[in-house]
Amino acid sequence: MIIDGHVHMWLRPMYPDVIINAYLEPWLAMSEFLDLSRDMEDNFPTSEVRPELLLGYMNRAKVDRSVVLPLDFGLVQEPKAGVEALNDWIFGSAQLYPDKLIPFMGIDPRRGEQAIRLMRKYHSQFEPRGIKVYPPNGFYPNEERLRPFWDEVRDMDLIVVSHAGASWGPLDEEKGRPIHFKGVLERYPDMKLIIAHLGGKYRAETYEMAREYENLYTDCSALQGWLPSDPGTAKDRLGEALAVMGDKVIFGSDWPLFDLAYPYESWCAFVREQAFCSEEQRERLMGGTMQRLLGL
Ligand SMILES: [Zn+2]
Repeated sequence: MIIDGHVHMWLRPMYPDVIINAYLEPWLAMSEFLDLSRDMEDNFPTSEVRPELLLGYMNRAKVDRSVVLPLDFGLVQEPKAGVEALNDWIFGSAQLYPDKLIPFMGIDPRRGEQAIRLMRKYHSQFEPRGIKVYPPNGFYPNEERLRPFWDEVRDMDLIVVSHAGASWGPLDEEKGRPIHFKGVLERYPDMKLIIAHLGGKYRAETYEMAREYENLYTDCSALQGWLPSDPGTAKDRLGEALAVMGDKVIFGSDWPLFDLAYPYESWCAFVREQAFCSEEQRERLMGGTMQRLLGL
């Protein structure tokens, strides 16, 4: 089974303007030259990312299942549709394709009692297997005030996916360093944590911590950033991650991000075909490990 452990879906009102503007910066800069219409911010190519679009991509790339990660940027700036509307939509959409889409929650831990209320709501309705957090929004995972959130994560036995590496605009990249999870992993030794994007420029920390914490995982999404111009680096990073972390590396894409620069189908083929590991390792990378984590 091929599982993409890291994809996104959204509708434009679910993300705040500051995040969209940061994401669109290269296009907006060009639009001055090209005299594109002013409504670019509302009608850019991926302003709506619906499940049917994702399923089409998965189908063409022969991906069996995808883990859908909602991103709660609401405490950076309140979007028109808030965190509950976002998660409601993600779970409602995924429910239409139960053998294809695996939705996680996306809730900022700083929401305190609201976070716990929402987690309990989705837990009772859908029993999600995990939750996405985004420390560059403005928190350190090991902050004392977040302890009730992590207690809840433990009680629900959730897999945590945390963004690490490149962050833009108002986001604080440093807060995404894997090292800030140390205290959390010490306190919750059974918590399964996936550091996204290998940790980006902090990947040495991911590798270091992987030696110490057996429940630390990582995903290789966003490595397409090196493609198509520098396939050697993408391949080296995959090889290095597997050499250090073995079966703890999970295939991911960050779809629909990067698709314009390097097509989704090509990325799936790249990881499936390039020589950087044994076929047994590749089977676990492409889905075996995630399948086990999700209990499928
Ligand atoms: Zn992502």
